[in-house]
Amino acid sequence: MRLVTYEVDRELWPGAVVGEEVVDLSSLARDLLGLIDLGPQGLEEARSAVERRAHVLPLSDVNLHAPIPRPRKNIVCLGMNYAEHAYESLRAKGLPPSLPEHPVFFTKPPTTVNRPDGMIPLDPAITKELDWEVELAFIIGRSGTNIPRDRAMEYVFGYTIINDITARDLQRRHQQFFKGKSLDGSCPMGPWIVTADELPDISNLALRLRVNGEVMQSSSTSDLIFDIPTIIATLSLGQTLEPGDIIATGTPSGVGMGRNPQVWLKPGDIVEAEVEGIGVLRSTVVLAGA
Ligand code: ZN
Repeated sequence: MRLVTYEVDRELWPGAVVGEEVVDLSSLARDLLGLIDLGPQGLEEARSAVERRAHVLPLSDVNLHAPIPRPRKNIVCLGMNYAEHAYESLRAKGLPPSLPEHPVFFTKPPTTVNRPDGMIPLDPAITKELDWEVELAFIIGRSGTNIPRDRAMEYVFGYTIINDITARDLQRRHQQFFKGKSLDGSCPMGPWIVTADELPDISNLALRLRVNGEVMQSSSTSDLIFDIPTIIATLSLGQTLEPGDIIATGTPSGVGMGRNPQVWLKPGDIVEAEVEGIGVLRSTVVLAGA
């Protein structure tokens, strides 16, 4: 299933996209987090609602929001999880090439979440180096701590696309990743969550990012340094993962910082982040306050 959050009369509701229609799932849960909380039973009921097509709207009549517009916690992200991206990042900082021995984790607050076809605000007084990062993200479906690697995939509810928009000057100035990764609207997410059963093999999915139609990033999840089972096993050590937690797996090379000359986003740019098997997440950069 392709699970969405859609807007009708300024209210947000959970649904499933089937072809050009949205099947309303609000009889099962108030939102997708509530549906995820219901576990396998919730998925079963959602499937049967999709089959019945009880309450259906044309997709063209609704606005899609991020599938989880307001996560309960920060979104966890992986830094330097593709070798070529690790090298380009270090090169941009004048450092010699090396790869992380352990996953590098940082987070983005819930206020960063942005919708599909949303506007990414750019305030030139705050950042002059706004950059893109296409990423495969996954959503945790059940609670667990110290999850063994060989059982990790049982904890994955589904997948979505994240564009980890980053203010490189802030990232550099404040040393930790957090500030440069946390501007409002800097986490476009969606356009939906593809449930795990529909993407049984995520080991070789193409990822692409285009700015105004020009391909800037093109890679595959086969190039991940730390795969999803390793990420889950490592992150869950002494740290409880819960339903609805969102984890972005990192970005491949081709970010603006790594290019020569460097390229930064500017107002009017259209950014498309694409992951095979999920779809395309499109955003437009706009002057903040415009
Ligand atoms: Zn990232």
